[in-house]
Amino acid sequence: MIKSEMIFLGPPASGKGTQTEKLSKELNLPHIDTGKLLRAEIEAKTKEGKIAKKFMDQGQLVPAQLVAQIIIKKIFSQEAQNGYILDGFPRSIEQAEILEKALMDAGKANSNKRIVIKLLVDRNSLLERIVNRRMCKNCNKIYNLKTFPPKINGICDACGGKLYQRTDDNEETATKRFDTYNKETAPLADYYREKGFLVTVNADGEPSEVYQEILSKIK
Ligand code: ADP
Repeated sequence: MIKSEMIFLGPPASGKGTQTEKLSKELNLPHIDTGKLLRAEIEAKTKEGKIAKKFMDQGQLVPAQLVAQIIIKKIFSQEAQNGYILDGFPRSIEQAEILEKALMDAGKANSNKRIVIKLLVDRNSLLERIVNRRMCKNCNKIYNLKTFPPKINGICDACGGKLYQRTDDNEETATKRFDTYNKETAPLADYYREKGFLVTVNADGEPSEVYQEILSKIK
């Protein structure tokens, strides 16, 4: 039985990665970061990674079965036996249904322990966040050149790793990612709301304020 399942929803750059990383440490639950797992497949040049890259560079969703296969393996892993935090999956109703079926088939469905947290953000600030986002190649820490720059240009404060810009963090691809979000992911919030799992959090403020609001909603 899954004891705790948290699903984060929110448009690109709404802060899902920052918040779920912190929450994962505090609650001692694994952070299952879909984008990061897909980027690791690309880096490792696997067959899945090659397929995923084509979609990611276009700002589109990677085929559901491919993503689901990667995520469901994590959900059923030993380290997730007490629960997990899902960041970036499911991202469409189709994916939510694949997840549901996998949990049912494995006899692990326990919807009492599910909470879906939707981050609400002012759309105008998102593009600005995306083009200024830099990430550590080594530990994946996220920076923003304007609001949260590293102390030394191009170097991670936490581990000394090199910072890089994701290839999909440019204006053109980001615009497509927003369209994909509106079309595929936004309806998922209504889907979970109707089932009674959804809570919303205002994510416009400082990361620490957003985090406190998340904590208050999950208690
Ligand atoms: P963001 O939330 O900022 O868009 P992510 O790192 O979560 O960043 O995702 C980057 C890209 O990876 C997406 O634009 C999409 O192409 C792909 N991706 C991530 N999660 C999924 C998913 N659940 N299903 C399909 N594709 C996904």
